[in-house]
Amino acid sequence: MKSKKNIPFAKTHIPPGTLGEIGKVFRSGWIATGPKTAEFETAFCNVIGNRHGVAVSSCTAALHLAYSTLNIKPGDEVIVPSFTFCSTINMLIHIGAIPVFCDIDENTLCLNPSEIIKIITAKTKAIVVVHFAGMPALMDEINSIAKKHNLKVIEDAAHAFLTKYKDKYVGSGNNLTCFSFYATKNLTTAEGGMVVTNSTNLAENIRILSRHGMTKQAWSRYETNGSWKYDVIAPGYKYNFTDIQAAIGLKQLEHAEVSRNIRLKLVNHYFSELSDNPRLLLPTKPTEKGSEHAWHLFTIRLTSKSQINRDDLIFKLKEKGVGTSVHFIPNHLQSYYKNTSPNRYHLPVTESVYQNILSLPLYEDLKSSDITYIAKIINQLV
Ligand SMILES: *Cc1c(COP(=O)(O)O)cnc(C)c1O
Repeated sequence: MKSKKNIPFAKTHIPPGTLGEIGKVFRSGWIATGPKTAEFETAFCNVIGNRHGVAVSSCTAALHLAYSTLNIKPGDEVIVPSFTFCSTINMLIHIGAIPVFCDIDENTLCLNPSEIIKIITAKTKAIVVVHFAGMPALMDEINSIAKKHNLKVIEDAAHAFLTKYKDKYVGSGNNLTCFSFYATKNLTTAEGGMVVTNSTNLAENIRILSRHGMTKQAWSRYETNGSWKYDVIAPGYKYNFTDIQAAIGLKQLEHAEVSRNIRLKLVNHYFSELSDNPRLLLPTKPTEKGSEHAWHLFTIRLTSKSQINRDDLIFKLKEKGVGTSVHFIPNHLQSYYKNTSPNRYHLPVTESVYQNILSLPLYEDLKSSDITYIAKIINQLV
């Protein structure tokens, strides 16, 4: 029997006043990259606590620019989790680098530092860290390995807006950090992303590359005091952000603290409904002092004691009107990477986590009663 309940997996919350801000941009006569974009970059950096932010069209674009600007070259090996969204890795292929998949840590579901050490070679150039679900990765360990072996670190912070690692927000340190403002992420501009850095040079480089490789004067070429002249100093990309997106983003930023508190409340509700179930594994919380989870995703994992497998649970929840998702199908199991990997990968933790993991609905407009309903079904079935 089909249920009337409809709890989608994701739903975007648009704070009141957003339409008014978008209207102002329309009426200003300029809707592409301009003053609102600059305002959003500054406001975002002020929240995160870093010097420079370059807003771009997506986190995928941000990663591409970060890899390029750090001079990762064809043939360079880059250590990256297989347990991430495909674009983290696809962008390495576009610059000719070789992704080397690394297993994750059972607790954080982020890169396992002791596995990183095992796969470093003379060709290794960089490590890409993904803060899975908003959980901070073991950054002290990873940064110190990188330092010892002279490797660059890039942080994929698509899930990690307002994740804290030891009292500091992810994105406030020395590593190039890439955020996503995709529709389902904790802060959205519909589509969009940002590279955050403390390096003026890198920021400048990324900005130039994101706008066709044209020199600075070109960005203001349509302003009354701008010049028509510009120079192309690199074959760049068209990855720029728009003032329309910036207007959406500025409202989201204003609302970020409220949004974070609502997510926290919902997560606590999930914990209180599900933590007595011995057949489930709930997400671990950061244990370091001053670290905080951003709760982009709330994932549960089935265990050997569970009465149902993951795929059947997804199906049953769907029948009862509950949308779920799986983050992530490991990339080393995807056709392209399977077919192009010189040696077949075996990543035991990644593979076993993937078999049993499931992401539950988590967004501002989710009702407490929805969580009670979802948890009841899960407790019955598992
Ligand atoms: C969403 C996501 C991306 C890509 O973000 P876009 O802004 O959609 O390009 C990259 N990495 C991870 C881990 C993601 O979840």
